[in-house]
Amino acid sequence: MSFTGADVLIVGQGVAGSVLAWTLHQRGFSVHIVSSPELPSASSVAAGIVNPLTGRKLVKTWEADRLFPYLHRFYTGLANQLNTSFFTPLDVYRPYRDEAERRLYQTIAADPELQPYFQPAINDAAYSAVINNPFGGIQVMQAGWVDLPAFTAAVRDYFIDKQLFTYGQVRSDDLQTRPDSVTYLGKTYRYVIFSEGPHGQANPFFSALPYNVVKGEILTAEVADYPLTNIVNQGIFIMPLSATRIRIGATYSWHELDWKTTDVGRSFLETKARALLRIPFTVVDQRAGIRPSTVDRRPFVGWHQTYPSVGIFGGMGTKGVSLAPYLAHDLADHLALGKEINPAVNISRFHSL
Ligand SMILES: Cc1cc2nc3c(=O)[nH]c(=O)nc-3n(C[C@H](O)[C@H](O)[C@H](O)COP(=O)(O)OP(=O)(O)OC[C@H]3O[C@@H](n4cnc5c(N)ncnc54)[C@H](O)[C@@H]3O)c2cc1C
Repeated sequence: MSFTGADVLIVGQGVAGSVLAWTLHQRGFSVHIVSSPELPSASSVAAGIVNPLTGRKLVKTWEADRLFPYLHRFYTGLANQLNTSFFTPLDVYRPYRDEAERRLYQTIAADPELQPYFQPAINDAAYSAVINNPFGGIQVMQAGWVDLPAFTAAVRDYFIDKQLFTYGQVRSDDLQTRPDSVTYLGKTYRYVIFSEGPHGQANPFFSALPYNVVKGEILTAEVADYPLTNIVNQGIFIMPLSATRIRIGATYSWHELDWKTTDVGRSFLETKARALLRIPFTVVDQRAGIRPSTVDRRPFVGWHQTYPSVGIFGGMGTKGVSLAPYLAHDLADHLALGKEINPAVNISRFHSL
């Protein structure tokens, strides 16, 4: 059957849906987005940090050598094209907890594979007025943060302007699926791709996929004068928003998986931040969200086994901002050129489920 409708219906406009819609649109696909303003979005809570080396042992992010150069070009280029700004490249300073951690991090930093990610010249003294860093610290490059509410709003406005965006909640019953097309509200698309974030767990098409969602909380605080321009990370992160505002995060909880803030979360973050910071701060905002994490910590990309016109671009977990650009580029190559989806993210790895 020759296909005459629009190419792709994208359901959900968090960071994943936004990046995918923009990428496909740039590649010449005809795209339409439907997203619900009522369902909460992980992207509206997230700090938006991109950091190639994470965790207590500075583990290199999966595919970092590809993801990080690409994402820097992607967000900078998109901001330029939309004549706005939402991406701040910066470093992440990791003050050592003690002498043992200093030795460990120095050993890790000597790995030639990690050289592109470490700042060779670090000015520990520049941090000392604000941060407790008696053992010094190490600094990770190619990091930064995306102001996700600003980013998603800019992408949404662009697609609204082109009449390629509709507010609404898509339910699986609203879709008529055929092997080579999908019809939604009287319009036919070659594909529907779900980017529902953590709400993907409730999607009957993909209910067998093994999510392992994680709740997270985050604080915004005011300070009299914050001189640092890099993120500081020691178990928690402290991210500068302006000369008088910082963001403090984040918690990880596999219990009470709702979107409500808790006193426990706030007190955990405040206590850690007070130990790390040498200056007073006042918390002015607290948010909670659900990260769309997966059991094997790899995203969910690909097509339904029985309905080949129904796809997913989700399961971005704790690193959606880093993962989405390159994975969207790969998915565009798959759609345009028939390139195979990376088996590590392809949901075909779960088809036996
Ligand atoms: C406290 C916290 C801090 C975090 N910090 C970071 C960080 O620093 N860096 C990082 O990379 N990640 C971070 N994350 C993780 C990050 O939030 C996710 O990786 C990312 O936001 C997932 O984006 P998404 O687009 O897949 O999902 P979402 O942002 O949840 O977007 C899904 C969208 O789809 C819509 N939707 C869902 N179902 C439907 C439907 N059926 N019909 C219509 N619309 C629908 C929803 O309304 C929503 O707008 C953090 C998360 C939390 C909770």
